[in-house]
Amino acid sequence: MTATDPPAPRFLPQLACETVPRYTSYPPATGFEADTGAQSWSRWMHALPDNPAVSLYLHIPFCKSMCWYCGCHTTIPNRRDRIERYVEALLLEFDQRAAQLPSGHSVHHVHFGGGSPDMLDTVEFGRILGRIRECFTLAPDAEIAAELDPRGVTPELAASLVENGFNRASLGVQDLSEEVQTLIHRIQPLATVEKAVETLRSAGIPAINLDIMYGLPAQTRERVARTARCAAMLKPDRIALFGYAHVPWFKKHQRAIPEDRLPGAQARFDQMFTASGVLELAGYEPVGFDHFAKPDDPLAIAAREGTLNRNFQGYTDDRYDVLIGLGASAISEAPGGYIQNQPDPALYAQALENKASAMIRGRARNDEERQAGARIERLLCDFRLPADVVDAQDRAALNELNALGLVEDNGEGLTVTPAGRPYVRNIAARLDPAFVTGAQRHSVAV
Ligand code: SF4
Repeated sequence: MTATDPPAPRFLPQLACETVPRYTSYPPATGFEADTGAQSWSRWMHALPDNPAVSLYLHIPFCKSMCWYCGCHTTIPNRRDRIERYVEALLLEFDQRAAQLPSGHSVHHVHFGGGSPDMLDTVEFGRILGRIRECFTLAPDAEIAAELDPRGVTPELAASLVENGFNRASLGVQDLSEEVQTLIHRIQPLATVEKAVETLRSAGIPAINLDIMYGLPAQTRERVARTARCAAMLKPDRIALFGYAHVPWFKKHQRAIPEDRLPGAQARFDQMFTASGVLELAGYEPVGFDHFAKPDDPLAIAAREGTLNRNFQGYTDDRYDVLIGLGASAISEAPGGYIQNQPDPALYAQALENKASAMIRGRARNDEERQAGARIERLLCDFRLPADVVDAQDRAALNELNALGLVEDNGEGLTVTPAGRPYVRNIAARLDPAFVTGAQRHSVAV
């Protein structure tokens, strides 16, 4: 640290331990209702502007083995025919959902998430991309990305991804120490990650993202720092730094995590701050509160230009009119609201086989909620809000955080100070009309 560096943000236990929404949607998914489904979606599709920009999210809910920290919708299929049945259902959903779009649409982003999309074989990747190109109008420069488990990356898979037009891959690294990997049931030494990155790059995937974590059992500042250093040495375009959310009442497999080995709130905060420092020293620009990107990566550019957005995958440079979520548990977003598909892969497949819709719940947004959501999104992306969207009630709600030096209100608007950045979700929550402090349905802020 030099004399000109800003001081380290302070650990404020009452804020770091406060449970607040992640604000990947507004209203949050915890407020979705069973009576909003396929009919609402169909209405919202009729109300789309001409030539809408479309993004596709495909959920592949399968993994080879369960990581104990996992917070995703995934299953261990045991039998290959479960994956085959699921792929057939996905293809049916493409037909169903594409038929509702205006012909002038264009798809700019396709994202395969999960689960582990590398559970698909090369033939399945080819069939899925082939059907996407038949059903939707894919822009020539579309970003096609996949989340991959480094242990599942093979030269055959990498070649198939390139052949099918993929141009970005995200690899889960989490932590590189053997003890942590044993406790989270995910053994993947650094050599496995290095090999996966090398395999993808030599096949021709131009952009690589890595995900690392803090707050895992037996993690220390040193271990987190080493993981961040190793991740940066692989020179990915983006690195996401996520805090482990321990919610064993909601994700039963997390009961296998030894709670007495979990770092406390102060240790989590120190780990987060240490990893951020390592990544910034390595030349990565912070993007929002949990992403880092090379200065020439589109995400860093969007952050600098004030065009960064937030969606269910976190921070994104994607600016769509409609996001179509395909597959079990996938969430779709339109100006009218959100809709979620059936989360159980077998029930999802059954719905599509019966020519029914897989949408089971959602939430329409009124104008007030759209405005509240847009304001929270701008705060989380830009760390500031212009004066014309901040009123006296907001200022009163932020009094306490203002006094702590976390926000500044200088007449031109509201700015989150460097000390306030780790607490930006707490700040957003005070501007959220629906937020109730202490609700147990969200994760801790840091
Ligand atoms: S590979 Fe990812 S999605 Fe699968 S169990 Fe592990 S953390 Fe969850």
